[in-house]
Amino acid sequence: MSENLSTSVQYLKSVGPKRAEAFSKIGINTIKDLLFYFPSKYLDRSNILNCIKIVQYVRNGYQGEVTIIGEVINKELIHYGKKNIFKVRMKDSTGIFECVWFQGIKYFTEIFNEGDYFAISAKPVLTKYGNLQFVHPDFDRISKNESLEFLHTGKIIPFYRVPKELREKNLGDFSLRKIIHQAVEKFSDLVEETLPQYILKEKKILPLNEAIKNIHFPSDNDSLTAAKRRLKFEELFYFECLVALRKSLVESKKKNYKIIVKPEPIKKFLNSLPFQLTKAQLKVLHEIRKDLESSKPMNRLLQGDVGSGKTIVALIAMLIVVTNGYQAILMAPTEILADQHFKNISRLIKDLNIKVSLLIGGQKKYEREKILKEIKNGDAQIIIGTHALIEENVDFHKVGLVVIDEQHRFGVIQRSELIKKGINPDVLIMTATPIPRTLSLTLYGDLDVSTIDEMPANRKPIKTVLRGESKLPEIYKFIQAKAKEGYQTFLVYPLIEDSEKMELKAAETYYNSLKETHLKDLRLALIHGRMKWQEKEKIMLDFAAKKYDVLVSTTVIEVGIDIPDANIIVINDAFRFGLSQLHQLRGRVGRSDKQAYCILVTKDEFITNSNMLNINFEYLSPAQIEKSKTIIRLNSMVRCNNGFELSEIDLKLRGPGDIFGTKQSGLPDLKYSDISEDVDILYDAKEIAFNIIKEDPKLNLEKNFIIKKVLKENYHNNLLLSQIA
Ligand code: ADP
Ligand code: MG
Repeated sequence: MSENLSTSVQYLKSVGPKRAEAFSKIGINTIKDLLFYFPSKYLDRSNILNCIKIVQYVRNGYQGEVTIIGEVINKELIHYGKKNIFKVRMKDSTGIFECVWFQGIKYFTEIFNEGDYFAISAKPVLTKYGNLQFVHPDFDRISKNESLEFLHTGKIIPFYRVPKELREKNLGDFSLRKIIHQAVEKFSDLVEETLPQYILKEKKILPLNEAIKNIHFPSDNDSLTAAKRRLKFEELFYFECLVALRKSLVESKKKNYKIIVKPEPIKKFLNSLPFQLTKAQLKVLHEIRKDLESSKPMNRLLQGDVGSGKTIVALIAMLIVVTNGYQAILMAPTEILADQHFKNISRLIKDLNIKVSLLIGGQKKYEREKILKEIKNGDAQIIIGTHALIEENVDFHKVGLVVIDEQHRFGVIQRSELIKKGINPDVLIMTATPIPRTLSLTLYGDLDVSTIDEMPANRKPIKTVLRGESKLPEIYKFIQAKAKEGYQTFLVYPLIEDSEKMELKAAETYYNSLKETHLKDLRLALIHGRMKWQEKEKIMLDFAAKKYDVLVSTTVIEVGIDIPDANIIVINDAFRFGLSQLHQLRGRVGRSDKQAYCILVTKDEFITNSNMLNINFEYLSPAQIEKSKTIIRLNSMVRCNNGFELSEIDLKLRGPGDIFGTKQSGLPDLKYSDISEDVDILYDAKEIAFNIIKEDPKLNLEKNFIIKKVLKENYHNNLLLSQIA
């Protein structure tokens, strides 16, 4: 039979039906599937050291991992009292070294046999007899030939994950490598190109079949890099195509209403404010105004650090819409915030004769029905609530603007939800978590972005300090002294192990004991996530009215709450929080012209002065990595007050998946690229994708057929595409 890419792997040499079945269990059915089973790592001669070098390294105090290739000389099982030790002695051309195991001995005894070659990776140690030793090293088996060829030609050896399904059928590292080699030699040229030629040329990108050859069996590092670049580019390019298509779809639908800015009421409102808008606020307001007046619906992200004054900007946008006879909706992430927005906005526009309505859970039935009626008949002009506002069966009269106070919660707004309701309004999303640029390109790639990059002038930078737990008594004294000057304090305890019960316990326990001991002269209140919003609201209002000096809380105060006289925040167990969360928490203070303080309290072991930001994680153990990341996070908070800078650091430390969660966030599921690292490729891919969709929104030009085809075939399950189709 003539074999092609869709032929079963069964027909490859040394596969056969049984092994084909094993392949099938790990999702590899056809030859094409096998071609796309890429190595999980590579062995590259430039990374290999020999015995002599390694011993020198260790003597010089080197702490990292090394890789060495050796041949097994012998192995022995040593009984040491009750303990067993398995020791393998190996050699390379410069000397002898040993590998030892204390656990899983039976397994390792079977693997290591005299005359076998292995690449060994681990942190080297010198025993008291001066022997070079590796404890529980990583190892990869290679053949003698590979080892020789490798040393002489400088080739790169690929290593594939060999899942147990394959091992059970006697497929190990060598045999898999051989089978894949065979497939690549014979079939990779049949793989069809998935990017248009003109892009390959313009961006000097490898054709797909060459990339496949090079990703499996690269002749050198450059060709491996080129192959990776090709795969990353393609992945990011198609992702950005979807983003661009969605943007173009939103823009293709015209609004069915017209907004004209009426300056008088806006001027009157601005004059009633006790402050002037900052330049940055005026700039973004201008951008929003242009969107509102345009016939295309606005799709804009308003980002600005905590306290930069986003609410006022959104409110002015709402006033513009309302004075044109349309309703404006403001959605907050929690009921307590919706309630706070309602109170603030009602107060700010009390002279404008505009009806503001609040719809949230926990309202009395008759009250709720009254509000629903106002919303439906149009009496309600500004409507404030949680996300439930658009999810539930609320009928609106004429919506012109939806503002989403997304705070730090990411999640792409389901515009389709709105369109289903028969409205295609202007949408403004506010976020307080500054998003690293790469992420805003992906997460919010279809939005226009306005940034408030300046704080109101009266703000003093918050003083942030890092203190060990042993300093707590002094911190309590500080809180007491400052209370005499009218300062109020947030005392935050983190969520422990994701359990609300435990979280509550921590805060509650401290509340009870502090009340009797260190802070007995002050008035304390407790607030936590399991209270009803009405209870929380009462405590927040009382705190704002200065009935308390100290608010002991779990992280419920994290979002949006605005209390001007609370100017100290103490964050306990600060090491448990992520950077953006710490910055959000800190943003609760420093909202007036008084000096504010943020005190990060943590285990004493995390207190160090060294500047560890330049640490190279490659050479550390996982526990060391965690510790140094924690130290970096905490010290970054002390050093830096700028949310954007912190978000970039956070992205580097944690990677995007960890920050935003995967599925819910709308973050793409990327196989080959890492948006925190592949920034340049991402910019390139985005630029090209957006230009193509701008020129050819339906992908009807012949040169773009291939794009349309790939999108249809490979991305039909994609959330974005399904929203477009
Ligand atoms: P955020 O951007 O975090 O949502 P807010 O909109 O809540 O910030 O604003 C924080 C505080 O700053 C509010 O009390 C608000 O009234 C005040 N504010 C907003 N703009 C200015 C300004 N231009 N000058 C002084 N204070 C301002
Ligand atoms: Mg806000």
